[in-house]
Amino acid sequence: MVSVASEPGVTDPSVTEGSDMGWVINCDCGTAVRGQTDDEIVENAQDHAKSKHSLTVTREQALALAERE
Ligand SMILES: [Zn+2]
Repeated sequence: MVSVASEPGVTDPSVTEGSDMGWVINCDCGTAVRGQTDDEIVENAQDHAKSKHSLTVTREQALALAERE
């Protein structure tokens, strides 16, 4: 059997795990909304916008505002 070379760009799942890189959105009200994953930051941003500002934020909007920290 000839082994197939692993394709470049395929991410090793172990690399992302344990990373302390997270996302932050600095809201206009002064609150820093944080999340470790994109799913988490979207959820937290939607939660914050809804509970504090009665706003509905889409996933796209949340991710557009999110910055790496
Ligand atoms: Zn806010």
